[in-house]
Amino acid sequence: HAAKSSHTALRVYLPADDQNTPDRLALITDLRDAIDRRDLLVVFQPKLDPHTGDVTGAEALSRWHHPTHGSIPPDQFIPLAEHSGLIRPLTLHVLESALRRCAAWRRDGHPLHVAVNLSANSLHDPTLPEVVARLLAQSGVPAEALTLEITESTIMANPAGAKAVLDQLHGLGVRLSIDDFGTGYSSLGRLRELPLHEVKIDRSFVQRVAVDHRDRAVVRSAVQLGHALDLEVVAEGVEDQETYAYLVREGCNLLQGFLISRPLPPDEFAGWLAGHRAPNVVQGRFTA
Ligand code: C2E
Ligand code: MG
Ligand code: MG
Ligand code: MG
Repeated sequence: HAAKSSHTALRVYLPADDQNTPDRLALITDLRDAIDRRDLLVVFQPKLDPHTGDVTGAEALSRWHHPTHGSIPPDQFIPLAEHSGLIRPLTLHVLESALRRCAAWRRDGHPLHVAVNLSANSLHDPTLPEVVARLLAQSGVPAEALTLEITESTIMANPAGAKAVLDQLHGLGVRLSIDDFGTGYSSLGRLRELPLHEVKIDRSFVQRVAVDHRDRAVVRSAVQLGHALDLEVVAEGVEDQETYAYLVREGCNLLQGFLISRPLPPDEFAGWLAGHRAPNVVQGRFTA
């Protein structure tokens, strides 16, 4: 079994592959065990307000280190979880871990927010709002310090259904963010009807703003649309100084990306926070 290359494994858990081959079933069992044993690690990527230099919060992202296949990226195990009924326990585990960390940061004097990603299936789970309410109460984190990120394509796949769940979540006081914005063909009318607080511009546009004028046009329109709808605008995937400076000039409210920090294991986060210095942008130019 050990001789089996990771390529073999990659083939069996491609999201498009709905056939329950033995390898795929074994992987589902392993994922279930990992969730049960709390073996899925949740890492945290800082979000920075470039206008104040403050870190305002962090996005929680799941990591799975498989005992024999090594690290499996979320782009692969999240679809596997969705197809095998494991997304609900996975989401609960991530929510619980994220809120526990957020409560600890806040106790230590850092008034940070935490963001958790919701998968498409979560929007069909009628118990989600009460579960979120219970986990908030357990952790002591105020609802407005929790952001739930939902991809634009998830929302647009079923706008009416999404609106019903989003309205309930909004009723709890949590913040709602539309993730990977620009990739999901939103109708503007639909967007306006949803109780959103934030848009996150997809990194596929952000990453090339320094070199592609069409991506600059997309980012500029997304920022303007977001602000016109009174939303905070976040750019994800900020990797270099030129991109950072451009996004500051365009008025993005929050920036997230490897330039600021990679996603950090929970025990490294506080240390990073204490040592970090915001990049220095003066009049739209990167100076530090
Ligand atoms: P996302 O929610 O859009 O998260 C942002 C992704 O971009 C993360 O990838 C993050 O590590 C990556 N990223 C951040 N900054 C940079 C950068 O500067 N350059 C590059 N190249 N990448 C950057 P990750 O952690 O691999 O997650 C991928 C996707 O998997 C996420 O996209 C999200 O849709 C999903 N995901 C991750 N964790 C969870 C989870 O706990 N639950 C659910 N439902 N989905 C999750
Ligand atoms: Mg996200
Ligand atoms: Mg995103
Ligand atoms: Mg993304």
